[in-house]
This record gives sequence, C-alpha cells and structure tokens, in this order.
Amino acid sequence: MARAGLDVTVLEKKKMIGGSFSENMEAFPEYHYSRLDLPIPSKPVKEVKIFCGDGAQKQRLIIHFQSPVFRLVKRGTSPDSIDSYLFQRVSKTSANVLFGERFDKARRGIDGRIEVLTSSGGSFKCKVLVAADGVFSSVRKVLGMARSQKTEGVGFIAKVEGAQLAHSETIGIFNYSRWPGSYCYLIGYPEEDYATAGMTIRSPYANSNLRKYFDSLVDYLPDILGGSRVVESMRGFVTLGMRNRPLSAGLGLGGVQNVLFVGEAGGFQDPTLAFGLAPALASARLAATTAVQAVSKNNLPLLNEYAPWARRELIRDETRRISFRYILESMTENEMSTFLSYIAGRPEKVEKVMRTGEYVYNFLPMILRSAARNPKLLTFPFRFAKVSRSLKSRRMPSQRS
Ligand SMILES: Cc1cc2nc3c(=O)[nH]c(=O)nc-3n(C[C@H](O)[C@H](O)[C@H](O)COP(=O)(O)OP(=O)(O)OC[C@H]3O[C@@H](n4cnc5c(N)ncnc54)[C@H](O)[C@@H]3O)c2cc1C
Repeated sequence: MARAGLDVTVLEKKKMIGGSFSENMEAFPEYHYSRLDLPIPSKPVKEVKIFCGDGAQKQRLIIHFQSPVFRLVKRGTSPDSIDSYLFQRVSKTSANVLFGERFDKARRGIDGRIEVLTSSGGSFKCKVLVAADGVFSSVRKVLGMARSQKTEGVGFIAKVEGAQLAHSETIGIFNYSRWPGSYCYLIGYPEEDYATAGMTIRSPYANSNLRKYFDSLVDYLPDILGGSRVVESMRGFVTLGMRNRPLSAGLGLGGVQNVLFVGEAGGFQDPTLAFGLAPALASARLAATTAVQAVSKNNLPLLNEYAPWARRELIRDETRRISFRYILESMTENEMSTFLSYIAGRPEKVEKVMRTGEYVYNFLPMILRSAARNPKLLTFPFRFAKVSRSLKSRRMPSQRS
C-alpha cells in the first residue's frame, strides 16, 4: 500500500518485531509456498519422519522426497525470522510502523474518516482500517463480531535444547491413543542446536492439560526428547472462520465496508494441519490491493469487493480441505497407523499432495485401500458423518451471530 503511494501507519501492540509469538520454527506446505510469489528465506525439507502407533505397535517411518514438501521458517524477534524479513520489507517503504501501540477503539470521526484510538492515548485517522491483529482480534471485538470466530485448537510450542534432532530434521507424530484427533511435530533449527516441539490439540478431544500432553510427548519419544530442556514455551490458538463469516465491516461511511479483516483476524487458515502463514499473507495482499484501488480512485465503495474476492480466492480452498480434516478425525488409532505406513511407501503420491494441496482426491483412495482388510472400515462413512456433524454443530453458534 505504501509503495502504491498510500499513507500507511502500522500499530503493533508489542514493543518488538515478532508480535505475540515466541521463537519457534513453523512450516509452509509446498503448495502454499510455491504460490506466495514472495521470496521468504526458508529451508527446504525433502525428508520427513513419522512416528505413529503405541507400545508394541509403535512405528518410525521415513519418507524421502525428490523435491521439497515443506519450507521451514523461524518466527520471532531474531534477524533471521520471517517476522524480521517482513519488517525489513516494510522498512524500505514510507510506511510508519509504531511498536508498543495497542489498538483500543475505532469510531467514525466528524470528517467521515475512521478514528483509531490506542491504549496509550494515541489517535490516528484513516480512510481504511485493515485488521491484522490475530486470533483474538480486538478490532473484531470492538465491532461486535468476535462471536463469529471460534478457536478450533490450541497449540503448545516449546523451544528445546538437548533434543536428539539433526538440523532441519522434521518429524510428525500421530498417536490417537495418547492425543485423540491431535498431532505433534518436532523441527530441528536449521542453523542452531535447538528444536521446536509443537503440539496442536483439537479442543473437542482434549483429555488433559497442555503440560501433561507435552510430558506425554517426551515420554513417547525418550530417545529424542529424554535429555532435552525447555528454554521457552508458549501456547497459541488457531482458528477457522465459518464459510460465510464477515470479512469486512462498515463504520458508518455510507454503506462502505471500510474495515477489512486479514489473517487470523479474518479466520483465514488452511484447516488440514492449521497452516495459517500463507493464508495470512494472501488475504493481506487481497486487502491491500483492494485498498489501493479504492483510495487511489477516491472510490471507497470499491472496498466492498474485498470480501467476495477473498471468498473466491481463499475460502473455497479452505472449505474443500476441511473435509480432509474430518476424515483424519474419523480414523481410529489403528487405521491412522496403517494409512501412514501405506503412504510412507508411496512418497511420489505424498509429494503430489504437498505440491497441489489436493488432499481428499489423492489421500482418500489410499486410506480406503490401506484399510481394505479391516472390516471396521465399513463403519468409516458413519464415523465421518458423525464427526462432520458434531464439528459443524459445535461451530453453529458463530454462524448464527
Ligand atoms: C503453535 C502454533 C504453531 C503454528 N504453526 C504453523 C505452521 O507451521 N505453519 C503455518 O502456516 N501456520 C502455523 N501457525 C499459524 C500461524 O502462525 C498463524 O496463522 C499466523 O501467525 C497468522 O498471522 P496473523 O498476522 O493473522 O496473526 P499473528 O501472527 O498473531 O499477528 C497478529 C499481530 O497483531 C498484534 N496485535 C494483536 N492485538 C493487537 C492490538 N490490539 N493492537 C495492536 N497490535 C495487536 C500481535 O502482537 C501480533 O503481532 C501456527 C500457530 C500456532 C499457534
């Protein structure tokens, strides 16, 4: 927006780059990264290890790929983080980034502009407000839209030292006996001797507190995590908005939807494994393009085009992938292990999924084939319908608001 000549002010409540996230390694799936059109420094991943099953059934699978399936990025304040990279890009423009300024309220000013007030007493006037303030967006709350968002899961991430992990080593852990409907991951830092241990817990299935979940992960992987120490940790929330959630709101400017919600504030997320980085960047790009058009043509009603555009470009994909999420959650521990060992022997198929993002189309036949000798498979459609129904109804209140 600043490059296109708009006066841009960014308000960040934290005092430093990195926002509310503590340091951790995150991953872009290849289908997101390759479509970003943004040269984000990252480390490619061409091998993934998977742990699944429990007790005597525990398995360690290794999948090698011809080309990268994930790109690793660091979050946080350090100079090599994606947050610093994005800040450096902004620093080369005329945009004014103010740290330690917390959005508090927005109201319509007498001149018809939006007046934004911050907790420290600051006051800023603007034609367009882009809300990029994360999963618990204050802007949504202030506009009375908070109920249209619900957290879908809680993540626990720890930066650990002393874990037996190579640089950039990437491990996925699926064990529904210990963590129903949830998954964990370990990522070795590409350059330093640390690792990120992450657990994404789906609240409807949670059976203990986060610390116990983490202890149970250490207990499950004693060879890797046994001698490790947590340097810092945080819990984070992931969200997923309803298909018809509001993506913009008016503030009294004659029917103009002049507040645009991007990233987690707009409920954007790839629901498969809660990938939110690329949807945040992609929605921000759509919002910025719309704002530039509207302001430079002095035609604010053009802002109303953001919501239908974002639905077309981003929400259609989300909706398709949520079915895969339901499929994963319909599986039993045993089916999940069988499926994972089946795909471990077919890396080219997995690579295709990670290149295209077409989970259901590629994986569903493999799930059915992998479990072909298991009569319980016949109950799968019923279980799928039950899981979809229960998750949908759990999200109904937000739809009504
Ligand atoms: C544990 C965990 C692991 C994850 N791993 C991955 C992964 O591997 N891959 C992936 O793609 N996604 C991952 N995600 C999701 C991804 O991190 C988020 O979707 C992404 O950060 C969303 O970006 P955002 O800009 O919308 O929000 P955020 O990154 O949360 O940024 C919001 C910003 O707004 C600021 N802010 C908040 N309130 C105010 C206010 N009132 N005034 C001013 N500033 C304010 C915050 O300080 C913060 O800087 C993970 C999430 C969690 C919790």
